[in-house]
Amino acid sequence: MDLRIGQGIDIHRFKAGRRCILGGVEIPSEVGLLGHSDADALTHALMDAVLGAIGQRDIGTLFPDTDAAFKDADSIVLLAKVWGIAKAAGWRIVNADISLLAQIPKVNPYVTEMRERLSAVLECQLERVTIKATTSEKLGFIGREEGVLASAVVLIQRE
Ligand code: MG
Repeated sequence: MDLRIGQGIDIHRFKAGRRCILGGVEIPSEVGLLGHSDADALTHALMDAVLGAIGQRDIGTLFPDTDAAFKDADSIVLLAKVWGIAKAAGWRIVNADISLLAQIPKVNPYVTEMRERLSAVLECQLERVTIKATTSEKLGFIGREEGVLASAVVLIQRE
């Protein structure tokens, strides 16, 4: 049994007039997240964790923000592409654990839906994808409600 671990981190800043999409779920919010794609920091952290685990470069290399093809891209579609690479190499998810640091918006009511979306893309059971959300106790850029940070670890296995 071949086991690999990967980790990923992503930060996106808030911007009025943008949608707030995290874990593939649109969350009602006064401000959204700014980025070349849909700026889904949680899904981006997960993608980088998978890419690290399978020994590939990062999402910035795979989906460059200079490429118009990825403008406003649905990060769930990008995650499906990343998982396609992993699956083709014979990998399966053991588990993925993701933490979101955000002062706003309130994401807890949407965590189960996020887990459903992400586990469907990763072709694993819901229980294998966990998401925790916390504030930063009003400290730093997260506390000032300037942006969010997501961190993900993933363990994969291959026979
Ligand atoms: Mg990103």
